[in-house]
Formats: sequence, structure tokens, C-alpha cells
Amino acid sequence: MTGPQPLPQILDITPYKGGESLKKAHKLSSNENPLGCAPSASEALVQVSQALATYPDGSAKALRTAIAAKYGIDADRIVCGAGSDEIFQLLGRAYLQPGDEIIQSQHAFLVYRLVAQAVGATVIDAPESNLTADVDAILDRVTPKTKMVFLANPNNPTGSYLPFDEVKRLHAGLRENILLILDGAYAEYVRKNDYAAGMELAGEAANVLMTRTFSKIHGLAALRLGWAYGPASVIDAINRVRGPFNVSAPAMAAGIAALEDDRFMGQSIEHNETELARVKTALEAAGFEVVPSVANFVLIRFGSADRAKAVDAFLRERGIVIREMAAYGLPDCLRLSIGTTEQDDDVIAAFEAFAEAG
Ligand SMILES: *Cc1c(COP(=O)(O)O)cnc(C)c1O
Repeated sequence: MTGPQPLPQILDITPYKGGESLKKAHKLSSNENPLGCAPSASEALVQVSQALATYPDGSAKALRTAIAAKYGIDADRIVCGAGSDEIFQLLGRAYLQPGDEIIQSQHAFLVYRLVAQAVGATVIDAPESNLTADVDAILDRVTPKTKMVFLANPNNPTGSYLPFDEVKRLHAGLRENILLILDGAYAEYVRKNDYAAGMELAGEAANVLMTRTFSKIHGLAALRLGWAYGPASVIDAINRVRGPFNVSAPAMAAGIAALEDDRFMGQSIEHNETELARVKTALEAAGFEVVPSVANFVLIRFGSADRAKAVDAFLRERGIVIREMAAYGLPDCLRLSIGTTEQDDDVIAAFEAFAEAG
């Protein structure tokens, strides 16, 4: 007798491995907010702790209303999820079946692949140029089977971004029945005049969905909270397949408080801007190749997988944990999240020490 068997495609999945943490280490492996979260978000959580017996509002009305007010968009065209990860999973469930294709850029966020694999769809990787998504390469790979195109902008783990003109050109080249997902997990960090997260496009187009998260700029990764904005038909489909109470009451309460705290958001953005530049300059001065980034992390290239491993081990010995990149097809690279000023001091000193040791 054999036990219950999952669908065949499930056994091909390599489970997602989160950024590691070591006790007493600087954990700079998951692009978390080094400043924590808004104090009001923590307070909101304490308040909710007195009312845990009641189910949350399954429609997340108050949170959607707060998001809509902040960004000037329609609350009815927003859906919330347990992280943006859940929203990607729900899209897979609602739109993909075996034989369908999704297109992503070569070094895209790993979760898109997992979403497609879970439902037996095929992942098509479009080569990047200069570690940046290449619109023509993506459009060249569209076939009659293409159902979705995923674009993280900025992209994790490369830190690169596409100017909005390029995003519009990508959209213009896609059939109307192909869903373009613009993952804006790091949108708040970008300080570029030619960048846009895609709010207007998601508002106007019939086939563009923008996703956002509370895990990065808002520092609420532990609570699992994300949202998507787009065409009513896509929001409706996600609402049909999601769990009736997919977002918890603590997450919603903290999320609403976080959205209102412009000061904390501003501090987080400012801190990142200063530290990103400082870390990049210092690492380059020490002889390392740092890929230009507009997000809250940098990709560092070492020329060989062996050297990347040696740096990783050297940092670990000093209590610094960053992210290895083999799973992203970048075995010669490591990804470093921007930390607190003190953490970044230690990181810079460790890289300098490695360079000096030769
Ligand atoms: C961190 C990250 C997310 C956020 O995921 P959550 O499930 O909302 O925590 C989404 N997309 C990318 C590219 C990320 O790096």
C-alpha cells in the first residue's frame, strides 16, 4: 500500500529557503527593515491582543480603505493577502494550469517559479542584460501559451530597475489576456525620476496587477501582510480563491497604523539612501564589485563561486549572515541587506579585512 500521493508537479519543487539567522548575528539576509517598525504599529498589535477571540473582517475593509486613502486609489480594486507571496500563490491558483507558461526575467524573485510549479505551469526565463530585465527578451518569449509575466521592479536579488517607459513598452507588447504582475516590494526605496511602481497602469489597464508589501519599508515581515491593486476582474478572481480570513486581525491593525506613520517611513527611506551609498562606496573602495541598486540591498559579485563562498564563511565567523545566491543562478554573488549604521560598520570592516587578508 502506498500513502496519499501529491500531484506529480509538486515533487519537482525545491522549497523556498528563507534568509538564515544565527544567534547574536547581524541578520542581513532577508532585506528586512533595520529600523524595525513604526512604534504605533507595535502598539496597535498590543491593543488587538485583548480581542483575539473574534474572527477578523474577512474583507479587510478598514485596511483597504486606509491603503486607498493613502495612494488615492479605489478600495474596491484592492485585495489583501498574507504577504504578497500569498497573492502570487492565489494568482497561480486562479489563472494557471498545466501547459500554461509564465515569463520572468533570468534572475527573478524565486517565489514566481514556485507559484508556477505548484500548479504545473512552465517557467520561461528571459535573459537579462546587465543584470536588468530586458523588455525585448521577455516579449520575444511570448507564445500562445503565455498567461502571465512577472516583473519585480526593482528586482530582488539584482537591485536593478526598469524605467517606467520600459514597463509601459513591455505592457504595450503583451496580448490583453496576458496578466502583467508588477511586484513593487521595494518601490518606496527608489529615488529615481524615471521610476514608477505602476499604480496608474494598474488603474487603467485590463491586464496589469501591482503588488506591494508591508514586509520591507513598513518593517512588518513577521505579520505577513501584502496587497494588490488592479482590474476589478482580477481582484474578483483572487477574492474567489483566497481563504475567507486570509489576513489576521493583528496584521490588519498594525498595517493601518504603519500606513499612517509617514515619519517612520520617511526615516526608513532616508536611512536606506544614506547607508546604501555608504556601503557601496566603502565596498568598492575595498576592491569589490557592487551592482548598482535602488533597493535596500546590494548584490556583490566576486568573480567565482569559490570566492563568494570564502567571503560568506569569513563574514559568518564574524557574526554576519548574508544571502548566498546559487538558487538565483548567481553562484559567484552574495546579496547583502542594508542594516543599521552599526551593522553596516561591522560589515564594511569585515569586507575590508577579507580584502586585506587577500
Ligand atoms: C520581499 C519580497 C516580497 C515580499 O514578500 P511578502 O510575502 O510580502 O513578505 C515580494 N517580492 C519580492 C521581489 C521581494 O523581494
